[in-house]
Amino acid sequence: MQDDSRHFDLIVLGGGSGGVATARRAASHGARVLLVEEYRLGGTCVNVGCVPKKVMWHAAELAHGFEQAAGYGFALGQAPQHDWGTLVERRDRYIRRLNGIYGGNLEKEGVTVVFGKAELLPDRGVSVAGAEYHGDHLLIATGGLPQWPEIPGASLGTDSDGFFAMQQLPRRVALVGSGYIAVELAGVLNSLGADTTLCLRRDHVLKAFDSMLGDTLIEMMVEAGIRVEKNCSIAALEDSADEQQVIASFEDGRPPETFDSVIWAIGRTPNVDIVALEKAGIEFHADHRIIVDEYQATSSAGVYALGDVTGPIELTPVAIAAGRRLADRLFGGQSESRMDYDNVPTVVFTHPAIGTVGLSEAQARERYGSDSVTVYNTRFNALLYGVLDEKRATAMKLVCQGADEKVVGLHIIGDGADEMLQGFAVAVKMGARKADFDATVAIHPTSAEELVTMK
Ligand code: FAD
Ligand code: NDP
Repeated sequence: MQDDSRHFDLIVLGGGSGGVATARRAASHGARVLLVEEYRLGGTCVNVGCVPKKVMWHAAELAHGFEQAAGYGFALGQAPQHDWGTLVERRDRYIRRLNGIYGGNLEKEGVTVVFGKAELLPDRGVSVAGAEYHGDHLLIATGGLPQWPEIPGASLGTDSDGFFAMQQLPRRVALVGSGYIAVELAGVLNSLGADTTLCLRRDHVLKAFDSMLGDTLIEMMVEAGIRVEKNCSIAALEDSADEQQVIASFEDGRPPETFDSVIWAIGRTPNVDIVALEKAGIEFHADHRIIVDEYQATSSAGVYALGDVTGPIELTPVAIAAGRRLADRLFGGQSESRMDYDNVPTVVFTHPAIGTVGLSEAQARERYGSDSVTVYNTRFNALLYGVLDEKRATAMKLVCQGADEKVVGLHIIGDGADEMLQGFAVAVKMGARKADFDATVAIHPTSAEELVTMK
């Protein structure tokens, strides 16, 4: 006889951004939901991603603010001292509070939460610490893990999880990679006083975005004191004689260098047991991302997957939106509800920040043909810098398509880009044309006004 206490309408594997959002929305529609989490509620975003990263970014922005204060007439006396331990302690306390809030919210919605590592079984079953559960529907939202290179001594380095575990600021640090994490952590560490090197295996950063953003960012990182090393591939790491540091040797034979810490930021890999996926008849790509259709359904009936475990866009709001839409479809009577992966806005929390939505200029030219693409560019120093000796540029680009100049890409790097983007993303999502931007009265004096006054 079936044990009803072990049978649910929906079983969710993973209590991160996507899993929690799906579980809560399904429960709000009246579904009986079990959520299994191996570690801490909130997943990557809350524990070792967006949230602690943004706290560190704020600290780095404050450090920059102190440098600017004298230009505005403040006498701060001695150079401000930063205590890394205080920051980390306060950050981690905030995260523990969030873990509790996540648990409370799940409880309020009536979701059953079990802690432990879930092992996937065929026919929408899971086993957790010896107990078996079955669901009418099952969602895999187990996220991703940092990828490590296969080189000698790689384990002497660390990754973004290791960055958040650091109890003191490394004096000399290398970031390896050219994506979001490498540039964000390089900015934080540099601003808080570490001697920071960014090792790019080629000559660019953020290759998926409009090249104006990466080119301008490299320029600004160098101005801020980050050593950006192009065509720089680490061949091996070894311990220093006192085992307190690591020595990196390079593929091109340049002299070895010693660092307190080498941080791998070369992408993330899905957190899945591929043997269990195969047994459950769930197909996956060569890089182990689970294959899903536009409704997040896998190749096994009643089994769904979303978030970082599927890609293609590894962002918290994407996992959340996909989860809520799935729950609305399965339990809320909204049969066509699904995630729209077009025009997803994103911010890279660099110094200054980057905000981008839609197509890069190169993507638009490839998709629509160069003749139908019009591009508007601007570059200026924000008013903040008017009274300062320091100058930090803001650069913006609008990519428009067709005779009516529909805005298909909008790209910003500059102070405030992070908060500027969300509203403009609504306009792009709604299909705004350049003429709609022009018809919107500017807000003066702001940096954002440049987006509605571009010639
Ligand atoms: P996750 O949030 O990773 O959740 C998966 C959960 O599943 C985890 O809690 C894990 O413990 C659990 N789990 C895994 N296997 C099992 C198992 N077998 N049994 C039980 N539980 C299991 N995104 C943004 O939008 N903005 C940002 O600023 C941002 N910054 C980031 C900074 C860093 C350093 C990193 C690494 C990521 C960042 N991201 C950011 C990306 C964002 O964190 C992810 O896209 C998001 O967390 C994905 O959600 P998810 O639900 O797919 O997976
Ligand atoms: P990304 O996919 O952003 O970038 C990793 C890059 O590193 C690759 O694109 C590649 O760039 C380079 N790379 C790959 N292998 C190597 C190697 N062996 N040596 C040197 N460089 C290599 O991955 P991240 O780890 O930075 O971040 C993972 C995801 O997390 C992001 O894609 C993003 O979706 C999410 N995230 C979001 C944030 C936000 O919203 N602000 C912040 C942080 C993460 P190339 O081929 O050009 O050399």
